[in-house]
Amino acid sequence: MAQLIDGKRLSNQVLQDVACEVERLRSEHNVVPTLAVVLVGEDPASQVYVRNKVKRAKEAGMGSILHRLDAGTTQGELNRLVDRLNHDPQVHGILVQLPLPSHLDEDEVIAAINPAKDVDGFHPLNVGALAAGQASLVPCTPQGCMIMLHRVMPELRGKHAVVVGRSNIVGKPMAALLLQADCTVTMAHSRTQEIESLCRNADILIAAAGRPGLVGADWIKPGATVIDVGINAVEVEGTRKLVGDVAFDAVSRTAGAITPVPGGVGPMTIACLLLNTTRAARQQLASLAPPQPSVSCP
Ligand code: NAP
Repeated sequence: MAQLIDGKRLSNQVLQDVACEVERLRSEHNVVPTLAVVLVGEDPASQVYVRNKVKRAKEAGMGSILHRLDAGTTQGELNRLVDRLNHDPQVHGILVQLPLPSHLDEDEVIAAINPAKDVDGFHPLNVGALAAGQASLVPCTPQGCMIMLHRVMPELRGKHAVVVGRSNIVGKPMAALLLQADCTVTMAHSRTQEIESLCRNADILIAAAGRPGLVGADWIKPGATVIDVGINAVEVEGTRKLVGDVAFDAVSRTAGAITPVPGGVGPMTIACLLLNTTRAARQQLASLAPPQPSVSCP
């Protein structure tokens, strides 16, 4: 049976590190890393996600400010709020919860966020920096997946990774991070041919398609590490249940290591959001510091 990669336990370790960094920033610089979350409308799943993010931020000793806007908010009103948060020195991270109501332009609001406060890592400047292999605020879900992979695979170099899904928030940044880790990366999507045999060649399989149970045991190379990003609400015998993209029971018998849903990638995503917020606070502090005198000055 595959080793279970326990996202809850791992995320608690990341959150402990975050809490230590929060305490250091507070005691050494009198800074409380603060996350501003913007929620537009009443989408029930978004409300749950936002509640969890704010709760976890408080538990880590961070500041958190929730801006709830009604579903009829205009693009101008949303952009003006983002601009205000960009200029607020007490705010270190800004997250606009997606999806937005359909009359609002997500790309426009993401581009309006100060890249230094873009803790989701979705701003085009951060996307470009990641693609170029430069330091940046990295999207939280793929970042969490990388932490999980490092825990079970001491050596990623030269491994063949297949990423199923090519979204901007998961698939593409995931592929960039795997490439940075010297994996050989294949991206698959809904038009990929012979996807099963492609995946059977993977040492690492990342499933991020949003299709319940898409990945079966016959997609898996024996001993492969399987990271299930999917979160899909399904009804089983009249009860609503969350499942991943991977047929967990069957795949567990072939894979070497596997993440569960729930309790896998989900908790890691929130932990990495808070990690990004402390990183953003640290970087903003460094950019405000007066220049240090050069040691070579006479
Ligand atoms: P998305 O934007 O809908 O993208 C899905 C991707 O999967 C697309 O690239 C699509 O291909 C591909 N795809 C769909 N059906 C496929 C199939 N049958 N075979 C191969 N590829 C297929 O979704 P997303 O935002 O990336 O999210 C993916 C899943 O991860 C969802 O279940 C979402 O809820 C979950 N998620 C979880 C977390 C977390 O914290 N755990 C965070 C974010 C997302 P095309 O491009 O060709 O359409």
